[in-house]
Amino acid sequence: EKPVESHVFEADVARLLHLMVHSVYSDKDVFLRELISNAADACEKLRYEAIETPSLLGGDGEARITLTLDEEANRLILEDNGIGMNHDELIEALGTIARSGTRAFMERIGANKPGGEGSQLIGQFGVGFYSCFMVAERVDVASRRAGSDNAWRWSSDGKGSYEVTPIDPVDAPARGTRITLHLMADAKNYTSRWTIERIVKEQSGHVPVAITIIVKPGGEPERITDGSALWTKAKNDVSKDEYTDFYRGVSGQYDDPALTVHFRAEGRHEYTALAFVPGSQPFDMFDPDRKGRMKLYVKRVFITDDAELMPRYLRFVRGLVDTSDLPLNVSREMIQESPILSAIRKGVANRIVTAIEKLAESEPETFRTLWDNFGAVIKEGIYEDFERRSQLLALSRFRTTTSGEGFRSLGEYVKDMKSEQSVIYYLAGGNLEQLKASPQLEGFRARGIEVLLLTDSIDSFWTMNAPEFEGKAFRSVTQGAADLSQTPKLDGQSLASPEASAEADAFVEFAKKTLADHVADVRASDRLTESAVCLVAPENSYDRQMEKILQSAGR
Ligand code: ADP
Ligand code: MG
Repeated sequence: EKPVESHVFEADVARLLHLMVHSVYSDKDVFLRELISNAADACEKLRYEAIETPSLLGGDGEARITLTLDEEANRLILEDNGIGMNHDELIEALGTIARSGTRAFMERIGANKPGGEGSQLIGQFGVGFYSCFMVAERVDVASRRAGSDNAWRWSSDGKGSYEVTPIDPVDAPARGTRITLHLMADAKNYTSRWTIERIVKEQSGHVPVAITIIVKPGGEPERITDGSALWTKAKNDVSKDEYTDFYRGVSGQYDDPALTVHFRAEGRHEYTALAFVPGSQPFDMFDPDRKGRMKLYVKRVFITDDAELMPRYLRFVRGLVDTSDLPLNVSREMIQESPILSAIRKGVANRIVTAIEKLAESEPETFRTLWDNFGAVIKEGIYEDFERRSQLLALSRFRTTTSGEGFRSLGEYVKDMKSEQSVIYYLAGGNLEQLKASPQLEGFRARGIEVLLLTDSIDSFWTMNAPEFEGKAFRSVTQGAADLSQTPKLDGQSLASPEASAEADAFVEFAKKTLADHVADVRASDRLTESAVCLVAPENSYDRQMEKILQSAGR
């Protein structure tokens, strides 16, 4: 005989719910993430209120979220010991969809049909709780506000109205909220322990409240996550082993990270980033789609690993960004266009590039491995990221004709340049042994001029697009007339130009005639010492390696 209040949802909720259930979230699993994040929020809210009013905790200060599976009754029950809701809060919070903007929202979606633009807009509004109607035909919420003697039940089938009933406090949690989902027939999989455990670990593994599972009514609680969001801790409070464990979880690799970058950005944008450069190459590094796998979290709730948080040339970086600047149910479109995210992208990339620079100075050995693994990818940035081009060039390391087994930076190259030398010479293509054996290098070797030996296919691209480093242009030794006449040979032989020789002139004439249809020009050159002839590409055109690449691509 308890009084039952019947309420109608504000706005055209039935339509909204229909839209949402059928089009917003293609992935139904997300309902669990929404409910868990609400439960975690409720625990956080209690924590704050208890700072002023410790009695609210009633001696139980440990936040808990418990999932109970009831396969027989086809029910999933989610309970938290957070702040809870009183009568008015239940109506205010659960009876009003997107309190802030319901009307504006309904106006905007106006005539839109399900699946149209409206469905994407929904993602921008606070409709998290309602996602449980994607899997439940009825939802009961029993709640008791911390410090209150009264408890209430909210109940709805999500079709347009809901009921609020006072209940005996013993039928509610001692504090907090219990949500019972009466699952649809085709949602039975959400009573399976393995399904739930997988989803929780995947989506909510780092929610800052421990999550416990009870696999059948009356069963023993088992903890499935420990409630620690590693990245929210201060750097000094995290051990190397903790970082490594976390890295392994997030990357799916079993090695140690080569570099760990953990920082909190404050000010205009607030976010935390925890990123790792793996110790070895991930298997998908050279996938043609070149996608990164950094995870996006909003307030410690996993959103997506498809937000492209890294520039492509840092796609080997693993880890996450957690921000409080985005709504939890941020849509795909929003992720792509958000100025907040592009600011975050930039900030994180800066920090990672800077950290790699520091590593090069402080731990050359580790950096060497990092460069061996990822240098070929990082160099893509030289032509893709105009802003960081000179930074990336300075970071790059090369085998050269004088590097031996070591490797050289462009800074070192420029510092050691011959006084007469005005460009940075390189030879691209094939493998190191082939390059070293190239006759193109003879004249350079004879004069002690260092030449970069470039073996990655990306090298032919950035060299065309990187006009200079510290004011020095790049020049392929296979391209045009290398002017070596100004630099004396190491063995002290004469500087006399080969053009001066009458014998050479005669031979050049002969070769021009004979090869008339096959070459553009024949020149005497000081680039050779041992070999008689070599092929070079015209100046102001592709170098030999690029010609080959274009040829094999059918151009
Ligand atoms: P949002 O979380 O974005 O506010 P939701 O639809 O997920 O939107 O939740 C609506 C509101 O319902 C929350 O803001 C909160 O006030 C209330 N609420 C939902 N779940 C709980 C809970 N477990 N404990 C306390 N309050 C809750
Ligand atoms: Mg929510």
